[in-house]
Amino acid sequence: MDYILKPVEALRSPEKPPLGEVLDELARILREWRVKAIREANGIAARDDAARLEALRLLGARLAPIALGGGEAWADVDELDPYWDLTPRPGRVYHGALDLLTGEWPTPLVRLRSLSRGGVRVWAKLEAFNPFSWSVKDRVGWALAAGYIEEEGRPPRLVYEATSTNTGMALAGMAAIYGFKLRAYIPASIQRASDTLLAAMGAEVVRLPYSLTVESLDLVRREAERDGAVNLDQFNNDRNLMVHIRYTAREIDYQARTAGLRLRGIIGGIGTSGHMSAIGFYHKHRSRGETRIYCVQPAPGEKIPGIRRVETGMKWIGLAKPDRIVDVTKSEAVEAVLSVARREGLLVGLSSGAATAGFLKLLEEGLLEDGDYIIVYPDNGLKYVEQIKAHLEGGGGGGLHHQG
Ligand code: PLP
Repeated sequence: MDYILKPVEALRSPEKPPLGEVLDELARILREWRVKAIREANGIAARDDAARLEALRLLGARLAPIALGGGEAWADVDELDPYWDLTPRPGRVYHGALDLLTGEWPTPLVRLRSLSRGGVRVWAKLEAFNPFSWSVKDRVGWALAAGYIEEEGRPPRLVYEATSTNTGMALAGMAAIYGFKLRAYIPASIQRASDTLLAAMGAEVVRLPYSLTVESLDLVRREAERDGAVNLDQFNNDRNLMVHIRYTAREIDYQARTAGLRLRGIIGGIGTSGHMSAIGFYHKHRSRGETRIYCVQPAPGEKIPGIRRVETGMKWIGLAKPDRIVDVTKSEAVEAVLSVARREGLLVGLSSGAATAGFLKLLEEGLLEDGDYIIVYPDNGLKYVEQIKAHLEGGGGGGLHHQG
């Protein structure tokens, strides 16, 4: 062996390489599942090897191979302890709410018997098992806040953020922990319950006369500048993508390996595109193209909270290289929520319903090969009682009106 292993945490880059270079290195590592040893002196990586070191950090590996002598050496990624932090704490005892967030990862992956047919086995990744917003956005709220603190050396005083609710709740959790104030800007189209949920968590809520969160970005940025607030901006902040590579996508890899899955496809909804871009990037490379990526968007003219159409602009979607983008109506999404609730006992959120409806469309086309499929469920149904009630009262899904 002509390399030794050192903790990634003990190594530094001489300067921060551009994210594009880090992603190129990471793509190579994921495809080959091996990495060329890094040249280093006194804990500082050689300039030419900095992007590779940062790729290992982004991958979440605990160890990095350090070259001994002048020759080339390669380490298998499995030697680098790539899943070291993905085991829940013993006894599930946590010494604080922040520890609870990261300590409970991976979020559960559960087989959905009602959706599995023949050789097609379907699994759901339940992001509602996150403590602050009960959604996938806890990861992003944490990454944005912790990233800011790491860069600035102190927490922000005041944060303004455009959100469809979940990132707002996640940041409200961070505000409680790190001691900052939060103003959440939410579009008029979002359910009324969000005002109460965000206010209960201590956030100031501003409703804006838009139907999409993304339409308010300029206004929020301007108001933050005017008031000396920090706009963390989940839509453009690369930490959104990065936290989903390091955790969400790697968790899926770990879970698929643990359960011995043949991962044929992963399907999910797109808002900022953070989670599906990261999952697509990771698993397209890791499977060398065997795992297909399917993204779900609202059909033209339809509004489904948390997701939007790809042409409204998404920073990272190109990294996912989606094989298909499937349109779903709101009514189809709610019908799928009811179907999962009534056949699995799990009341999932509307974008989870949309992802399920999208998957069923692909299944009905008869083109899905046998194997395992993962649907990402971003949150649960509790925030959406208003929409579910309206659907039931409108005659969908068996109705609220009982006989007699
Ligand atoms: N589903 C829900 C319920 C959401 O809140 C969001 C984002 O806000 C999404 C899906 C989309 O996730 P992403 O922003 O990672 O594309």
